[in-house]
Formats: sequence, structure tokens, C-alpha cells
Amino acid sequence: MKNILNYINGELVPPKKTKYLNVYNPANGKIYAKCPNSDNSDLKDAINSAKKAHSKWKNLTNENRRDILFKIADELEKNKEKFALAETIDNGKPINDSQTIDIPRSINNLKFYASAVINNSSESHSLGHRAINYTLRDPIGIVACISPWNYPLHLLTWKIAPALAMGNCVIAKPSEITPMTAYLFSKICIKVGLPKGVLSILHGTGENIGDKIVRHPDIKAISFTGGTKTGKIINSSASPLLKKVSLELGGKNPTIIFEDCNYKQMLKTTVRSSFGNQGQICLCGERIFIQSSIYDKFKKDFIVETEKLKIADPRNQKTEQGAIVSEQHYNKILAYLDSAKQNGAIFLTGGKAKKIKGECSNGWYIEPTIIENLSRNSKCYSEEAFGPVTSIYKFETKKEAIDLANETNYGLAASIWTSNLRSAHQVAKSINFGIVWVNSWNLRDLRTPFGGMKDSGLGREGGNESLSFFSEPKNVCINYE
Ligand code: NDP
Repeated sequence: MKNILNYINGELVPPKKTKYLNVYNPANGKIYAKCPNSDNSDLKDAINSAKKAHSKWKNLTNENRRDILFKIADELEKNKEKFALAETIDNGKPINDSQTIDIPRSINNLKFYASAVINNSSESHSLGHRAINYTLRDPIGIVACISPWNYPLHLLTWKIAPALAMGNCVIAKPSEITPMTAYLFSKICIKVGLPKGVLSILHGTGENIGDKIVRHPDIKAISFTGGTKTGKIINSSASPLLKKVSLELGGKNPTIIFEDCNYKQMLKTTVRSSFGNQGQICLCGERIFIQSSIYDKFKKDFIVETEKLKIADPRNQKTEQGAIVSEQHYNKILAYLDSAKQNGAIFLTGGKAKKIKGECSNGWYIEPTIIENLSRNSKCYSEEAFGPVTSIYKFETKKEAIDLANETNYGLAASIWTSNLRSAHQVAKSINFGIVWVNSWNLRDLRTPFGGMKDSGLGREGGNESLSFFSEPKNVCINYE
């Protein structure tokens, strides 16, 4: 049994009240580690160490901070296999995904933001011969980064990298469901000599420690990725204290397929955009709209390709579908399937739990599921299932596709498949989503604004958006006259 520790003041420490939570391996349903369930007393220590560290950290040059972040990235690179395996054991995702997505992207996040601050420039506004304004961007101070379980290290580094690079001290809270790689990451920070107190990683539940972090008066900004319900709670706790809040929340994303698309490319990508990471990606397409002329062909081919996905022990290099992250989430997804069924849905494939023989027989697996005839009365129609579940619908006209895509409270991401340039532009402009991919999905450029509209969030991450979020602009006006 491994004991995970908090990272406070440059050291690995147990929670003060010695309360721990069980950490499960979703592949076999067994407890394999214990994780601190931290509380206010641990937060107090983290805040004190951050206060001591902040003035020195913010006064380092951008190059100094870049060098430290690069050292962390290099150390992560050296240990990438170890981290990939740890992520797979903790989360249940296929090892190939951890090796090719989670860990490389975590390394990229660190390097990208370490370089971004060097290349960042601030604005100036000339008033002709009278005056000039220039904008300084100072770090905020102590900020919080609260991240979910679906991409544990990737989403943790996506937040802490810009915050640290801008000169803030960070209190991070990873999901207690998947704490392992954050713990291993703290060991790297110690090894490379990240100054004490610059980063604290506190493990524990949202209720016990997340909420305390959000309400702490010394924490001036909160960057959160997680569910919409939690995001709304965080916003309501933080806004009376006038904290800056960035919320990256859930989605019910549309995939819109026109008859003139590159069919082969679309089919291959749509399998991935529906079932990647067992559907536990905020960007996954849970609603697929297909032009009626190709509906039957798509339906047949999509079922065939989906049924080819290999569901097995996530540690197996050939596995394409691993386990669902927790028993609670597994039951939640099955409840969505049940609600769909009760409202008359047709399961074209999947629709139930999958039993794996041998060592993984007690793991949490669900068959990739394609639903047809999903009623608007089913909660599976309107709510994010966040599992290997997608639904298909027919449309005739572009207008109908746009209306169907917009028929959701969410507004995170959409994919459009067409070879008609005009249609692509028209649809992209008319749908209410923060991220629109044309003839692709999850093609990422870290410089672009990332995030959603409506119930999918508040603010954007990525590139300058994150650097702006983690800084306070100060305008200086110099009068020439
Ligand atoms: P949750 O909202 O349940 O939790 C996210 C994090 O917030 C966890 O660390 C959680 O701790 C913590 N938390 C919970 N309650 C509070 C609180 N009151 N105050 C402070 N922190 C709290 O989300 P999940 O972990 O279940 O992640 C899945 C969700 O994340 C999906 O809806 C998905 O769409 C969304 N997501 C959005 C992305 C985006 O970029 N838009 C990207 C990835 C995921 P605990 O574990 O104890 O609950």
C-alpha cells in the first residue's frame, strides 16, 4: 500500500489530522494507495509557506522561472514511463494513451508556458504627442488550481505552469480520485529545487479542502476545471470575496456530419471523439448529427468500428478502452443508460457493463454505447454522461443541424465535417460553442483560447488567456506635456 503525502513548504508531509482516503485501481477495483484528506490546518501551512516564498519568486527574472520549469519538464521526460504507468493505474486509462497523450502533454504544458512568459509582451497605447500608456502585468500573489480526474497530470500542469511562470505561488488541489501523479510530480519539484512554498499540493475531497481553498482570503484567484455543478458552487463562494475565477466545465458536444465530408477521415475521428478515454473527455461528442443521405451508411459503419475497440486491462499496450475512473462514476453512467432505455432509446451497440476475465474481473468497464431514438425526456439527452456513450440523430438541412447542435445548455466544443468551405464557415459562426473543429477533433494549439460558453464555463485558458488570468494588469500613463 502506497501512502501519498501532501507537498507543503518544499517537503512531503502527512495531513496534520492524519486522515486518509482510499485510492482505487479502477482496472481491478482494488484499493492500492491512501491519499491525505487535508483540511484547514494543512491549508494554513501551505498559505504561510506561499506568503514567505512569494516576493522572492515574483522578483526572479522570467528566464530564472523558465529555467526551473524546464528542469521540472526534463525530469518528467526522464521518468515518463513511470508516470504513464502511474496514471494508468490511478485512472484506468489505456497505457498507450498515458504514454502518448497525458505525459507528453504535461511536459509540453510546462515548456510552453515557461517559454510563453519570455515571449510575452505587454501593450502600449499612444496618445500621439500628449502621452503614452503602457500596461504592466504583475503576478496576483497566491492562486488556487483545482483540477479533475480525467487527465490528472495534464490538467494540473495546464494550470500550474502559467500560474508559476507569471510569478504566482500556487496552492493546487488535484482530484482525490486520481492523486498519484501529482504526488510523484511533487517529488520532482523537490528534486529540481523548486523554491519552498512556491507550489503546494494538497490532497483531499472538494468538501474538506477544495471549498476551504476557494474561501481562503489570501487566495486571490481560482482556476477550476471540473463539473458544471461544482463550478457554480465555487463561483458562488468566490464571487462575494471578489476573487478572479476561471471555470472550465462540462460539455454536451455536437458532431455535425455533412454528406460531402471526407468519410473515411470522419469515421475514424468520430470513433475517437466519441469514445476516447472511455468518453471521459470534456471535448467528447455525445451528440452526433448526420445528414440524412448518409445516415444509414454511417450508422452501420460506426457500429462496426465501435465494436472493434479492444476493451481490456489498461496496462495492456493494445487496449483501446480501459476502465471507468471510479465505481461511483461507473454507476452514474449506467444510470444514464438506464434512463435512456426507460425513455425508449435503442442501443445500437453496447448499453451495459462489460465483464473482463481474470485479474480485472472486479474492475469498472462499460461497453462503448451508441444510442438511437434518444428521447428529449431522458436525462441522457440533456446532461453530460461523461462516459463511453454517444447518440445519433438525422438532419436534412444546414439550418436544422445548427438548431439541433445549439439545443443544449452547454457550449464547450463542436466538430463539423464537410468539404464545403462556405458551409464550414456558416455553421462554425452560427453554433454557440467556445471551440469549433472543422474536419478534425481535439487538434490542439496551446496558444488558442480554450473553454466554453453557457454552462460550460467562464473565461478561457490557453496562451495569453492563461497569462492574463494569472496576472493583474496595471496601466501607467506618462504625460509628455
Ligand atoms: P468535479 O466537479 O466533481 O471535481 C473537480 C475538482 O473539484 C476535484 O478536485 C473536486 O474534488 C473538486 N471539488 C469538488 N467540490 C468542490 C468544492 N465545493 N470546492 C472546491 N473544489 C471542489 O469534476 P470531476 O472531477 O468529476 O471531473 C469531471 C468533470 O470535469 C466533467 O464534467 C468534465 O466535463 C469536466 N471537465 C472539463 C474540462 C474543460 O476544460 N472544460 C476538462 C476536463 C474535465 P473531489 O474529487 O473531492 O470532488
